[in-house]
Amino acid sequence: MELSPSRRPVDQILDDAVAGKRISAGDAHTLLLDGDLIELGLAADAVRQRLNDGAVATYNIDRNINYTNVCVYKCRFCAFYRQPGDPEGYLLSREEIGRKIEETLALRGTGILLQGGVHPDLPLSYYQELLGYLRETYPMIHLHAFSPPEIKFVARKERMSFHAVIAALKEAGLMSIPGGGAEILSNDVRREVLAYAKTSAEEWIDVMRQAHGNGLRSSATMMYGMGEGLSARVEHFQRVRDLQDETGGFTAFISWTFQHEHTDMPDVPETFAVEYLRTLAVSRLFLDNITHLQASWVTQGKKIGQAALKFGADDMGSIMIEENVVSSAGTAYKMSQDEMEHLIAAAGYQPRQRTNLYERLVSKEETAELAEHYSRALTPANRGMASPLPVVA
Ligand code: SF4
Repeated sequence: MELSPSRRPVDQILDDAVAGKRISAGDAHTLLLDGDLIELGLAADAVRQRLNDGAVATYNIDRNINYTNVCVYKCRFCAFYRQPGDPEGYLLSREEIGRKIEETLALRGTGILLQGGVHPDLPLSYYQELLGYLRETYPMIHLHAFSPPEIKFVARKERMSFHAVIAALKEAGLMSIPGGGAEILSNDVRREVLAYAKTSAEEWIDVMRQAHGNGLRSSATMMYGMGEGLSARVEHFQRVRDLQDETGGFTAFISWTFQHEHTDMPDVPETFAVEYLRTLAVSRLFLDNITHLQASWVTQGKKIGQAALKFGADDMGSIMIEENVVSSAGTAYKMSQDEMEHLIAAAGYQPRQRTNLYERLVSKEETAELAEHYSRALTPANRGMASPLPVVA
Protein backbone atom coordinates (compact mmCIF):
# COMPACT_ATOMS: atom_id res chain seq x y z
CA MET A 1 0.00 0.00 0.00
CA GLU A 2 1.41 3.38 -1.06
CA LEU A 3 1.23 5.41 2.14
CA SER A 4 3.71 8.18 1.44
CA PRO A 5 2.84 11.28 -0.63
CA SER A 6 2.92 10.71 -4.39
CA ARG A 7 4.85 13.93 -5.20
CA ARG A 8 2.51 14.58 -8.13
CA PRO A 9 1.44 18.22 -8.43
CA VAL A 10 -1.78 18.98 -6.57
CA ASP A 11 -3.38 20.55 -9.68
CA GLN A 12 -2.80 17.41 -11.71
CA ILE A 13 -4.30 15.19 -9.01
CA LEU A 14 -7.36 17.41 -8.71
CA ASP A 15 -7.83 17.51 -12.49
CA ASP A 16 -7.68 13.72 -12.64
CA ALA A 17 -10.18 13.27 -9.83
CA VAL A 18 -12.63 15.76 -11.33
CA ALA A 19 -12.30 14.04 -14.72
CA GLY A 20 -13.19 10.69 -13.12
CA LYS A 21 -9.68 9.21 -13.20
CA ARG A 22 -8.84 7.23 -10.10
CA ILE A 23 -6.26 8.82 -7.80
CA SER A 24 -3.82 6.78 -5.71
CA ALA A 25 -3.38 6.57 -1.95
CA GLY A 26 -0.18 8.56 -2.40
CA ASP A 27 -2.17 11.23 -4.25
CA ALA A 28 -4.67 11.38 -1.40
CA HIS A 29 -1.78 11.81 1.00
CA THR A 30 -0.43 14.68 -1.10
CA LEU A 31 -3.84 16.37 -1.10
CA LEU A 32 -4.16 16.02 2.68
CA LEU A 33 -0.72 17.57 3.08
CA ASP A 34 -0.61 20.27 0.43
CA GLY A 35 -4.08 20.83 -1.02
CA ASP A 36 -5.55 24.30 -0.72
CA LEU A 37 -8.83 24.17 1.21
CA ILE A 38 -10.89 26.02 -1.39
CA GLU A 39 -9.42 24.13 -4.34
CA LEU A 40 -10.08 20.84 -2.58
CA GLY A 41 -13.66 21.94 -1.92
CA LEU A 42 -14.27 22.97 -5.53
CA ALA A 43 -12.91 19.67 -6.85
CA ALA A 44 -14.85 17.61 -4.30
CA ASP A 45 -18.01 19.52 -5.14
CA ALA A 46 -17.50 18.81 -8.84
CA VAL A 47 -17.23 15.09 -8.10
CA ARG A 48 -20.24 15.25 -5.80
CA GLN A 49 -22.26 16.94 -8.60
CA ARG A 50 -21.20 14.20 -11.02
CA LEU A 51 -22.12 11.32 -8.69
CA ASN A 52 -25.33 12.74 -7.22
CA ASP A 53 -28.29 14.91 -8.14
CA GLY A 54 -26.75 18.38 -8.05
CA ALA A 55 -30.00 20.08 -7.08
CA VAL A 56 -30.80 17.91 -4.07
CA ALA A 57 -29.27 17.21 -0.68
CA THR A 58 -30.75 14.39 1.35
CA TYR A 59 -31.22 13.45 4.99
CA ASN A 60 -32.99 10.71 6.85
CA ILE A 61 -34.96 10.36 10.03
CA ASP A 62 -33.88 7.52 12.21
CA ARG A 63 -32.92 6.98 15.78
CA ASN A 64 -29.73 5.68 17.30
CA ILE A 65 -30.80 3.25 19.95
CA ASN A 66 -27.92 2.13 22.12
CA TYR A 67 -29.49 -0.97 23.62
CA THR A 68 -26.68 -1.41 26.15
CA ASN A 69 -23.71 0.59 27.39
CA VAL A 70 -22.10 -2.47 28.99
CA CYS A 71 -18.92 -3.34 27.15
CA VAL A 72 -16.06 -5.77 27.58
CA TYR A 73 -13.69 -3.39 25.78
CA LYS A 74 -12.14 -0.16 26.97
CA CYS A 75 -11.44 1.86 23.85
CA ARG A 76 -9.52 4.92 24.99
CA PHE A 77 -11.58 7.29 22.83
CA CYS A 78 -14.90 6.07 24.23
CA ALA A 79 -16.85 7.92 26.92
CA PHE A 80 -19.94 5.77 26.54
CA TYR A 81 -19.11 2.32 27.85
CA ARG A 82 -19.52 0.94 31.36
CA GLN A 83 -17.70 -2.18 32.44
CA PRO A 84 -19.72 -5.30 33.32
CA GLY A 85 -20.94 -4.92 36.92
CA ASP A 86 -20.86 -1.10 36.88
CA PRO A 87 -24.02 0.27 38.55
CA GLU A 88 -24.43 2.71 35.64
CA GLY A 89 -24.56 -0.15 33.13
CA TYR A 90 -27.90 -0.77 31.42
CA LEU A 91 -29.56 -3.14 28.99
CA LEU A 92 -32.81 -1.87 27.48
CA SER A 93 -35.82 -4.16 27.47
CA ARG A 94 -37.58 -4.99 24.21
CA GLU A 95 -40.47 -2.83 25.33
CA GLU A 96 -38.19 0.16 25.93
CA ILE A 97 -36.70 -0.29 22.48
CA GLY A 98 -40.22 -0.58 21.05
CA ARG A 99 -41.24 2.65 22.75
CA LYS A 100 -38.29 4.45 21.16
CA ILE A 101 -39.30 3.05 17.77
CA GLU A 102 -42.83 4.38 18.24
CA GLU A 103 -41.42 7.82 19.03
CA THR A 104 -39.29 7.58 15.90
CA LEU A 105 -42.31 6.73 13.75
CA ALA A 106 -44.22 9.63 15.29
CA LEU A 107 -41.42 11.92 14.12
CA ARG A 108 -41.72 10.55 10.54
CA GLY A 109 -38.75 8.25 10.97
CA THR A 110 -38.14 5.27 8.73
CA GLY A 111 -35.48 3.32 10.59
CA ILE A 112 -33.40 2.68 13.66
CA LEU A 113 -29.69 2.24 14.13
CA LEU A 114 -29.36 -0.29 16.90
CA GLN A 115 -25.94 -0.77 18.40
CA GLY A 116 -24.38 -0.96 21.78
CA GLY A 117 -21.40 -1.76 23.76
CA VAL A 118 -20.21 -5.34 23.45
CA HIS A 119 -22.12 -7.03 26.26
CA PRO A 120 -20.39 -10.22 27.41
CA ASP A 121 -23.52 -12.17 28.38
CA LEU A 122 -25.67 -11.88 25.27
CA PRO A 123 -25.76 -14.99 23.06
CA LEU A 124 -26.74 -15.05 19.41
CA SER A 125 -30.26 -16.05 20.44
CA TYR A 126 -30.68 -12.71 22.28
CA TYR A 127 -30.07 -10.80 19.05
CA GLN A 128 -32.25 -13.16 17.02
CA GLU A 129 -35.15 -12.87 19.44
CA LEU A 130 -34.84 -9.09 19.65
CA LEU A 131 -34.80 -8.74 15.87
CA GLY A 132 -37.72 -11.15 15.54
CA TYR A 133 -39.76 -9.18 18.07
CA LEU A 134 -39.01 -5.85 16.38
CA ARG A 135 -39.66 -7.26 12.91
CA GLU A 136 -43.02 -8.63 13.95
CA THR A 137 -44.13 -5.66 16.05
CA TYR A 138 -42.87 -2.89 13.77
CA PRO A 139 -42.71 -4.36 10.26
CA MET A 140 -42.49 -0.86 8.74
CA ILE A 141 -39.21 0.14 10.42
CA HIS A 142 -35.79 -0.44 8.84
CA LEU A 143 -33.47 -2.37 11.18
CA HIS A 144 -29.89 -1.18 10.70
CA ALA A 145 -28.08 -2.96 13.49
CA PHE A 146 -25.00 -4.47 15.12
CA SER A 147 -21.63 -3.17 14.02
CA PRO A 148 -18.60 -5.39 13.32
CA PRO A 149 -17.32 -5.54 16.95
CA GLU A 150 -20.69 -6.91 18.13
CA ILE A 151 -20.81 -9.40 15.25
CA LYS A 152 -17.25 -10.54 15.94
CA PHE A 153 -17.91 -11.03 19.65
CA VAL A 154 -21.01 -13.14 19.02
CA ALA A 155 -19.14 -15.17 16.42
CA ARG A 156 -16.35 -15.94 18.89
CA LYS A 157 -18.80 -16.68 21.69
CA GLU A 158 -20.83 -19.09 19.57
CA ARG A 159 -17.80 -20.48 17.70
CA MET A 160 -19.37 -19.52 14.40
CA SER A 161 -18.04 -17.75 11.33
CA PHE A 162 -18.86 -14.11 10.67
CA HIS A 163 -20.79 -15.25 7.62
CA ALA A 164 -22.95 -17.69 9.64
CA VAL A 165 -23.73 -15.15 12.38
CA ILE A 166 -24.77 -12.54 9.84
CA ALA A 167 -26.88 -15.09 7.96
CA ALA A 168 -28.68 -15.98 11.21
CA LEU A 169 -29.28 -12.32 12.04
CA LYS A 170 -30.52 -11.63 8.53
CA GLU A 171 -32.92 -14.53 8.82
CA ALA A 172 -34.18 -13.02 12.10
CA GLY A 173 -34.84 -9.63 10.49
CA LEU A 174 -31.59 -7.70 10.20
CA MET A 175 -31.72 -5.42 7.14
CA SER A 176 -28.32 -3.69 7.04
CA ILE A 177 -25.20 -3.18 9.12
CA PRO A 178 -23.81 0.09 10.53
CA GLY A 179 -20.18 0.94 9.96
CA GLY A 180 -19.41 1.55 13.63
CA GLY A 181 -16.19 0.40 15.21
CA ALA A 182 -13.98 1.29 12.24
CA GLU A 183 -12.40 4.40 13.70
CA ILE A 184 -9.08 4.25 11.85
CA LEU A 185 -8.47 1.03 9.92
CA SER A 186 -4.76 0.92 10.66
CA ASN A 187 -3.62 -1.65 13.19
CA ASP A 188 -0.86 0.45 14.77
CA VAL A 189 -3.41 3.12 15.60
CA ARG A 190 -5.94 0.55 16.77
CA ARG A 191 -3.40 -0.94 19.18
CA GLU A 192 -2.54 2.51 20.49
CA VAL A 193 -6.16 3.43 21.27
CA LEU A 194 -7.09 -0.08 22.51
CA ALA A 195 -9.44 -0.80 19.63
CA TYR A 196 -7.43 -3.67 18.13
CA ALA A 197 -8.93 -6.33 20.40
CA LYS A 198 -12.50 -5.55 19.46
CA THR A 199 -11.66 -5.81 15.75
CA SER A 200 -8.42 -5.54 13.83
CA ALA A 201 -8.58 -3.61 10.57
CA GLU A 202 -8.76 -6.92 8.69
CA GLU A 203 -11.56 -8.25 10.90
CA TRP A 204 -13.65 -5.10 10.48
CA ILE A 205 -13.26 -5.37 6.72
CA ASP A 206 -14.02 -9.09 6.77
CA VAL A 207 -17.25 -8.63 8.74
CA MET A 208 -18.35 -6.13 6.10
CA ARG A 209 -17.26 -8.50 3.32
CA GLN A 210 -19.41 -11.26 4.85
CA ALA A 211 -22.34 -8.87 5.33
CA HIS A 212 -22.18 -7.85 1.68
CA GLY A 213 -21.78 -11.52 0.73
CA ASN A 214 -24.99 -12.21 2.63
CA GLY A 215 -26.76 -9.56 0.57
CA LEU A 216 -26.79 -6.89 3.29
CA ARG A 217 -25.65 -3.35 2.59
CA SER A 218 -23.63 -1.41 5.15
CA SER A 219 -22.16 2.00 5.73
CA ALA A 220 -18.45 2.71 6.11
CA THR A 221 -17.27 5.10 8.79
CA MET A 222 -14.08 6.79 9.90
CA MET A 223 -13.38 8.57 13.17
CA TYR A 224 -10.11 10.47 13.11
CA GLY A 225 -8.18 13.08 15.01
CA MET A 226 -6.85 10.79 17.76
CA GLY A 227 -3.27 11.84 17.09
CA GLU A 228 -2.76 9.43 14.19
CA GLY A 229 -0.70 10.46 11.17
CA LEU A 230 -2.09 11.23 7.74
CA SER A 231 -0.79 7.92 6.39
CA ALA A 232 -3.16 6.08 8.74
CA ARG A 233 -6.11 8.01 7.32
CA VAL A 234 -4.96 7.20 3.80
CA GLU A 235 -4.65 3.52 4.73
CA HIS A 236 -8.23 3.67 5.97
CA PHE A 237 -9.46 5.20 2.71
CA GLN A 238 -7.61 2.52 0.75
CA ARG A 239 -9.06 -0.40 2.74
CA VAL A 240 -12.59 0.94 2.29
CA ARG A 241 -12.14 1.58 -1.46
CA ASP A 242 -10.63 -1.87 -1.97
CA LEU A 243 -13.56 -3.64 -0.33
CA GLN A 244 -16.02 -1.51 -2.27
CA ASP A 245 -14.28 -2.57 -5.50
CA GLU A 246 -14.72 -6.17 -4.39
CA THR A 247 -18.34 -6.11 -3.16
CA GLY A 248 -20.02 -2.79 -3.95
CA GLY A 249 -21.85 -3.16 -0.64
CA PHE A 250 -21.18 0.19 1.03
CA THR A 251 -24.01 2.67 0.72
CA ALA A 252 -22.15 5.67 2.13
CA PHE A 253 -18.99 6.92 3.77
CA ILE A 254 -19.45 8.77 7.04
CA SER A 255 -16.51 10.44 8.74
CA TRP A 256 -16.28 12.53 11.87
CA THR A 257 -13.72 13.83 14.30
CA PHE A 258 -12.79 12.45 17.69
CA GLN A 259 -14.58 14.16 20.59
CA HIS A 260 -12.37 13.93 23.63
CA GLU A 261 -14.45 14.99 26.62
CA HIS A 262 -14.80 12.28 29.31
CA THR A 263 -12.51 9.93 27.39
CA ASP A 264 -9.15 8.48 28.32
CA MET A 265 -7.52 10.80 25.75
CA PRO A 266 -8.29 14.28 27.08
CA ASP A 267 -5.02 15.82 25.91
CA VAL A 268 -5.35 15.05 22.21
CA PRO A 269 -5.63 18.41 20.44
CA GLU A 270 -9.05 19.11 18.99
CA THR A 271 -9.56 18.71 15.24
CA PHE A 272 -11.11 21.90 13.93
CA ALA A 273 -13.33 22.76 10.98
CA VAL A 274 -10.64 23.34 8.34
CA GLU A 275 -9.12 19.91 8.86
CA TYR A 276 -12.58 18.34 8.90
CA LEU A 277 -13.51 19.95 5.57
CA ARG A 278 -10.14 19.09 3.97
CA THR A 279 -10.46 15.46 5.04
CA LEU A 280 -14.05 15.28 3.81
CA ALA A 281 -13.09 16.74 0.44
CA VAL A 282 -10.18 14.32 -0.01
CA SER A 283 -12.38 11.37 0.91
CA ARG A 284 -14.83 12.49 -1.83
CA LEU A 285 -11.99 12.64 -4.35
CA PHE A 286 -10.49 9.28 -3.37
CA LEU A 287 -13.59 7.16 -2.79
CA ASP A 288 -14.75 7.21 -6.40
CA ASN A 289 -16.75 4.01 -5.96
CA ILE A 290 -18.93 5.15 -3.04
CA THR A 291 -21.88 7.24 -4.12
CA HIS A 292 -22.85 9.04 -0.93
CA LEU A 293 -20.90 11.01 1.62
CA GLN A 294 -22.48 12.24 4.83
CA ALA A 295 -21.78 15.53 6.56
CA SER A 296 -21.25 15.16 10.30
CA TRP A 297 -23.27 18.05 11.69
CA VAL A 298 -23.53 16.08 14.95
CA THR A 299 -19.83 16.58 15.68
CA GLN A 300 -19.14 19.75 13.65
CA GLY A 301 -22.26 21.71 14.49
CA LYS A 302 -24.99 22.80 12.14
CA LYS A 303 -23.05 25.57 10.41
CA ILE A 304 -20.02 23.47 9.46
CA GLY A 305 -22.40 20.62 8.66
CA GLN A 306 -24.10 22.90 6.15
CA ALA A 307 -20.76 24.02 4.69
CA ALA A 308 -19.81 20.36 4.27
CA LEU A 309 -22.43 20.18 1.48
CA LYS A 310 -19.99 22.28 -0.56
CA PHE A 311 -17.00 20.07 0.30
CA GLY A 312 -18.17 16.76 -1.12
CA ALA A 313 -21.08 15.71 1.09
CA ASP A 314 -24.46 15.13 -0.55
CA ASP A 315 -26.30 14.02 2.57
CA MET A 316 -26.78 15.41 6.05
CA GLY A 317 -27.38 12.09 7.78
CA SER A 318 -30.07 11.81 10.39
CA ILE A 319 -31.87 14.45 12.41
CA MET A 320 -30.66 12.35 15.39
CA ILE A 321 -33.63 11.92 17.64
CA GLU A 322 -31.34 10.29 20.14
CA GLU A 323 -27.62 9.78 20.18
CA ASN A 324 -25.68 8.63 23.21
CA VAL A 325 -22.18 7.80 22.08
CA VAL A 326 -20.98 11.15 20.73
CA SER A 327 -22.99 13.06 23.34
CA SER A 328 -21.21 11.08 26.08
CA ALA A 329 -18.00 12.69 24.81
CA GLY A 330 -19.40 16.19 25.13
CA THR A 331 -21.22 16.87 21.86
CA ALA A 332 -24.98 17.30 21.94
CA TYR A 333 -26.46 18.92 18.83
CA LYS A 334 -30.07 18.19 17.97
CA MET A 335 -32.23 19.13 15.03
CA SER A 336 -35.89 18.95 14.03
CA GLN A 337 -36.98 18.00 10.53
CA ASP A 338 -38.00 21.60 9.89
CA GLU A 339 -34.57 22.86 10.85
CA MET A 340 -32.82 20.22 8.77
CA GLU A 341 -34.84 21.22 5.72
CA HIS A 342 -34.17 24.89 6.34
CA LEU A 343 -30.45 24.25 6.73
CA ILE A 344 -30.29 22.37 3.42
CA ALA A 345 -32.48 24.84 1.55
CA ALA A 346 -30.36 27.74 2.81
CA ALA A 347 -27.31 26.02 1.32
CA GLY A 348 -29.00 26.09 -2.09
CA TYR A 349 -30.31 22.52 -2.35
CA GLN A 350 -33.75 20.97 -2.32
CA PRO A 351 -34.03 19.00 0.91
CA ARG A 352 -35.30 15.48 0.49
CA GLN A 353 -35.87 12.80 3.10
CA ARG A 354 -34.47 9.45 2.00
CA THR A 355 -34.74 5.85 3.10
CA ASN A 356 -31.99 4.31 5.24
CA LEU A 357 -30.22 2.67 2.31
CA TYR A 358 -30.55 5.71 0.01
CA GLU A 359 -32.55 3.67 -2.45
CA ARG A 360 -35.34 6.24 -2.76
CA LEU A 361 -36.82 9.45 -1.45
CA VAL A 362 -39.56 9.50 1.16
CA SER A 363 -42.61 11.67 0.57
CA LYS A 364 -44.42 13.51 3.34
CA GLU A 365 -47.59 11.59 2.50
CA GLU A 366 -45.80 8.30 3.04
CA THR A 367 -44.91 8.98 6.65
CA ALA A 368 -48.04 10.92 7.59
CA GLU A 369 -50.29 8.06 8.60
CA LEU A 370 -47.78 6.32 10.85
CA ALA A 371 -46.68 9.64 12.34
CA GLU A 372 -50.28 10.41 13.20
CA HIS A 373 -50.84 6.93 14.58
CA TYR A 374 -47.83 6.98 16.87
CA SER A 375 -47.89 10.65 17.81
CA ARG A 376 -49.56 9.77 21.08
CA ALA A 377 -46.32 8.04 22.07
CA LEU A 378 -44.31 11.25 21.98
CA THR A 379 -42.55 12.13 25.20
CA PRO A 380 -42.44 15.70 26.51
CA ALA A 381 -38.73 15.75 25.63
CA ASN A 382 -39.15 15.23 21.92
CA ARG A 383 -42.69 16.48 21.31
CA GLY A 384 -41.37 19.88 20.25
CA MET A 385 -39.38 18.30 17.44
CA ALA A 386 -42.52 17.10 15.66
CA SER A 387 -43.57 20.48 14.35
CA PRO A 388 -45.65 20.75 11.18
CA LEU A 389 -43.67 20.24 8.01
CA PRO A 390 -43.00 22.96 5.48
CA VAL A 391 -43.94 22.24 1.89
CA VAL A 392 -40.79 21.79 -0.14
CA ALA A 393 -41.01 22.75 -3.80
S1 SF4 B 1 -16.20 2.17 21.36
FE1 SF4 B 1 -17.65 0.48 21.47
S2 SF4 B 1 -16.34 -1.32 21.80
FE2 SF4 B 1 -15.11 0.46 22.36
S3 SF4 B 1 -15.44 0.70 24.57
FE3 SF4 B 1 -16.93 2.03 23.51
S4 SF4 B 1 -18.78 0.79 23.40
FE4 SF4 B 1 -17.06 -0.62 23.81
